[in-house]
Amino acid sequence: MQQRHHPLLSASLGTQREIISYHFGENCPRQVYIQAALHGDELPGVAVAWYLKQKFSELEAAGHLLAQVTLVPVANPLALGQHWHGSHLGRFDVHSGQDFNRRFPALGPSLVTQLSSVLTQDITQNRQLIRDAIQHYFDAHQPVTELESQRHTLMRMACQADLMIDMHCDWEAIPHLYTTPQAWPDIEPLARYLGSAVQLVAEVSGGEPFDEACCEPWQHLQRTLGDRFPLPQGLKPVTLELRGVRDVSHSQAQQDAEAIINALIRGGYIAGTAAELPPLIHPAMPLAACEYIATPHSGVILHRRDIGEWIKPGEVVADILDPLTDQLTPLQAEHGGLLYARHWMRFATTGMLVTRLAGTDAIREGNLLVP
Ligand SMILES: [Zn+2]
Repeated sequence: MQQRHHPLLSASLGTQREIISYHFGENCPRQVYIQAALHGDELPGVAVAWYLKQKFSELEAAGHLLAQVTLVPVANPLALGQHWHGSHLGRFDVHSGQDFNRRFPALGPSLVTQLSSVLTQDITQNRQLIRDAIQHYFDAHQPVTELESQRHTLMRMACQADLMIDMHCDWEAIPHLYTTPQAWPDIEPLARYLGSAVQLVAEVSGGEPFDEACCEPWQHLQRTLGDRFPLPQGLKPVTLELRGVRDVSHSQAQQDAEAIINALIRGGYIAGTAAELPPLIHPAMPLAACEYIATPHSGVILHRRDIGEWIKPGEVVADILDPLTDQLTPLQAEHGGLLYARHWMRFATTGMLVTRLAGTDAIREGNLLVP
């Protein structure tokens, strides 16, 4: 195992943050990248990463790694340091207001310019040329803020991989994941081992999140140069939502780490025999089929239905109570679906997103992720 330090651009005098990455299985052409807590306050994946670090060390020592593995257990030191009088403020950068998992750069067009005259008829060689061009892109595009520098550091490592696993969690949620239609067949075993209940698939979900930005260079090259050169399939991304923010425990982390190892064995990234493949809980569904239920006024959230329940059209998922006017407003599902996530807070401001349901038919368009 190698440990590498990546100093970030310092935001202010006297401070210096860094990303620390762990590398296993040098000299393997296939690459896997795994990170945790890009939103800062989403800790289940950090615990999983710690268990993975030990497992990868053992697998490397035993000579069982068939891929280079890069592991970043703490992907967002900026957000980990954001506290306001005892409350941890993840998700948004307090300086810019930006979501930490948005606005990642699109490398594709720049890579086409770099590579269109140098690619060959050898797919292996082309994979290396693309990886070199990604390095070159980040050498040539210097970040100007600490946040940008964090984004560049993570993406430089991640988007060269064949498989990228980004570990997040939701507010209160059953395990679910996001991926692309192209990647889904390769991601399905991981969904099964993890017991992922909802598999949300979208070509473009909007906002340039990390997972899509990491596979964009490969897809863009395939679209623009794929008819002239043999190109590798490229990065398969998956964003795991490992339940809710409070679902952090030894036993769950061990179980999830074991699931990831089994999926990596099945994917040929690790030698060995994978555990028997469990059934897929629910088939993949379009991210556009999710119904987001928001409250029309402020008040106390009184949930009527729990995560994991199926909600029919017209059923009430929660009431919003205003004890001053005695108004009790039921929040009704319009389309229905599996209640896979709901807010952990019990006080709602007007317009706040309270509950999310995963349906089967597309009902939304545009930006599909939670704003
Ligand atoms: Zn997140």
